[in-house]
Amino acid sequence: MAAGTLFGVGFASALVIFAHPDDAEFMCGGTVASWVNEGTEVHYCVVTDGSAGSNEPGMTREVMVPIREREQRAAAEVLGVRSVSFLGFVDGELQVDLETRRAVTRVVRRVRPEVLVAPDPSRLWFANRYINHWDHKQAGTLALCAVMPDAPSRPQFPELLEEGLEPFEIPHLWLASEDADTYVDISKTLDTKLESLRAHESQGTADAAEWVRERARERARELGEEGGFEYAEGFKTFDLRDEDVDMAEPV
Ligand SMILES: [Zn+2]
Repeated sequence: MAAGTLFGVGFASALVIFAHPDDAEFMCGGTVASWVNEGTEVHYCVVTDGSAGSNEPGMTREVMVPIREREQRAAAEVLGVRSVSFLGFVDGELQVDLETRRAVTRVVRRVRPEVLVAPDPSRLWFANRYINHWDHKQAGTLALCAVMPDAPSRPQFPELLEEGLEPFEIPHLWLASEDADTYVDISKTLDTKLESLRAHESQGTADAAEWVRERARERARELGEEGGFEYAEGFKTFDLRDEDVDMAEPV
């Protein structure tokens, strides 16, 4: 079973919403590469500026921002991502408020993706080895806000209507989650995922840090075991299409 074939056909378009440069590659880089190979038009929306991505003494947020933007563009290019929107909210301080909800909704209404991919905001931690970053939870919640009510509701953010951005109902939501019900076979695209991670040099993913990619490979192997593939990525998926509409006009 290949990516996206659960519904008989691949997705025409996808939008990945995530907090920091490199999150998407860790979360779903193999899936993105598979979808692009199948003809899906994939877009990225990076919510923060990545400015807190270094603990090096003397490094400033101002210096980090362009570095991380450049690295994210390079990683997206490896995967064949069509566009990257940088919303530029401060890394480490992300809030779910009207400003951030409007900014994410603007991108969703512009891209109008068949599937929205985002981190699972309910994860406080992963196994006994990683406490989930605050921004990741906020980015996930922002994606859910876009699904309901922000993107489809006309009264939400009327200023977006003035920009020509009409309401849009997102048909599918895929959350990168420990609570997965759908696995994408990334056996053929794992190398591309690892190559895209290499682009995030400031995050220690380049040659000097083989262990980062080894950890990503190990995680893909674990998820592959769960999903019945050599390597996989896992998602909790939602089919949000209106049943009445489906019956009237099958998609
Ligand atoms: Zn992150």
